[in-house]
Amino acid sequence: MNHEYIMAIDQGTTGSRAMVVNSKGEVVSNAYKEFPQIYPMPGWVEHDPEVIWETTLSVMKQSMDKADVGSDNIRAIGITNQRETTVLWDKNTLKPIGNAIVWQCRRSSSICDDLKRQGLSPLFQEKTGLVIDAYFSATKIKWMLDNIGDARKRARAGEIAFGTIDSWLIAKLTKGKVHVTDYTNASRTLIFNIHEKEWDTELLGIFDIPVEMLPRVVPSSGVAGQTDPSILGTAIPIAGIAGDQQAALFGQACFDKGQVKNTYGTGCFMLLNLGDASVKPTNGLLLTLACNAEGKPCYALEGSVFIAGAVIQWLRDGLGLIESAAQSQDIAMLVEDTGGVYLVPAFAGLGAPYWDMYARGAITGITRSTTKAHIVRAALEGIAYQVKDLTQAFEETTGEMLTELRVDGGASRNDLLMQFQSDILGIPVNRSSYIESTGMGAAFLAGLSTGMWESGNEIKALRTSERRFEPSITQGKRDGLYAGWLDAVERVKSGRNI
Ligand code: ADP
Repeated sequence: MNHEYIMAIDQGTTGSRAMVVNSKGEVVSNAYKEFPQIYPMPGWVEHDPEVIWETTLSVMKQSMDKADVGSDNIRAIGITNQRETTVLWDKNTLKPIGNAIVWQCRRSSSICDDLKRQGLSPLFQEKTGLVIDAYFSATKIKWMLDNIGDARKRARAGEIAFGTIDSWLIAKLTKGKVHVTDYTNASRTLIFNIHEKEWDTELLGIFDIPVEMLPRVVPSSGVAGQTDPSILGTAIPIAGIAGDQQAALFGQACFDKGQVKNTYGTGCFMLLNLGDASVKPTNGLLLTLACNAEGKPCYALEGSVFIAGAVIQWLRDGLGLIESAAQSQDIAMLVEDTGGVYLVPAFAGLGAPYWDMYARGAITGITRSTTKAHIVRAALEGIAYQVKDLTQAFEETTGEMLTELRVDGGASRNDLLMQFQSDILGIPVNRSSYIESTGMGAAFLAGLSTGMWESGNEIKALRTSERRFEPSITQGKRDGLYAGWLDAVERVKSGRNI
């Protein structure tokens, strides 16, 4: 038998992807399927867990067909997933007791407000590294236990399981034999103590979440179980698990302390590997668990920008200034600079380091000579400035300067944006040749624990840089441009402009 391939599953918010990867780290095939979002009322977002499973299984099979490989050619499976999204299911029948509550869903905001009023924010931050927010799983679990029939009683009796999407897929893949999650996913639940690296009894008590329903927490790289042979034909080890952003960090080979990646999608997610030393997060940053070179837990600092690629969608769909996202580059290139125009895309408030939910967007510095090209360029630069804000917050928190930014995600394909990013940061921006860093991270984790690759060093050599952008402006110019941005942000804070 020839076990030459790893299968990576990337179960995301809008769709499920599977990739077949060979030992050279090449993606041999790729299959993707979108699935419906469910909006039962304003601010609520759900997924049907059965549909998540069906689309995942279907892309797994499709990717094998496309690569023309059978299940006995798959050495191991790695899973990465949308984080925090919460599923509760019956342990015996594997039937979900309701739809999955998606990370974006705000239904448990009032539970969070209560906890904050009780002054519990410092306790949660100290133990979990997180802020109290409806994003994280715990208040979603509590909502289900409070609102679905006799769910809490059944959970206490050991009949109901909780899991994030990784756990749910593994339960389905193993036909209920294995109930696990990994450290990175556990660190997003608001009930996992990231220092003790175990479920926290005190926090579980606050939510009245029975410990019986929780998955066993395993390292991100390691064999967690075997797929049931009836699913794909033979039993395949499930050997890698990580939340999407941590998987992207691993896919970018950022295993060492001080290495940082930024993903430019709808929003941005930046993660900095902190190694074994935790820090106290400030400025709206989070402390979370990621993976070291062995796939074992280490600390990472995380920050996010709410609106990144989304501002380009707005130029296209809202203003009609461009026809496609890619065209933003051609139009921005028509001018040398923005002519003093800044676009602050605070469409729904500002994330780290400002944490200002009342800020609203603005375009400043417009004159009679401002053209569409200046506005488009200012929109692209606005993405880069927000990333600069995050790096400043990271540097302030750790006391260490960043030396390089590794990048991925849809908008990282924009050369003009990447060059400006390097210019404004004053450090190189290193773009991976992998478009799917997230899926590659899952593949690397699974391949590392099953002997496809022997060490982190071997994986480092597989991650190649497609292009490196070097800073090309003076420090004086950089400071001047950034001061203009900070001034523009000042004007939009707490809705000063509305
Ligand atoms: P997500 O995973 O959040 O859906 P993707 O990584 O697929 O995001 O990236 C899509 C986002 O990137 C969109 O918001 C789109 O506007 C933006 N984008 C895609 N290509 C470009 C480009 N060439 N220049 C600028 N933005 C782009």
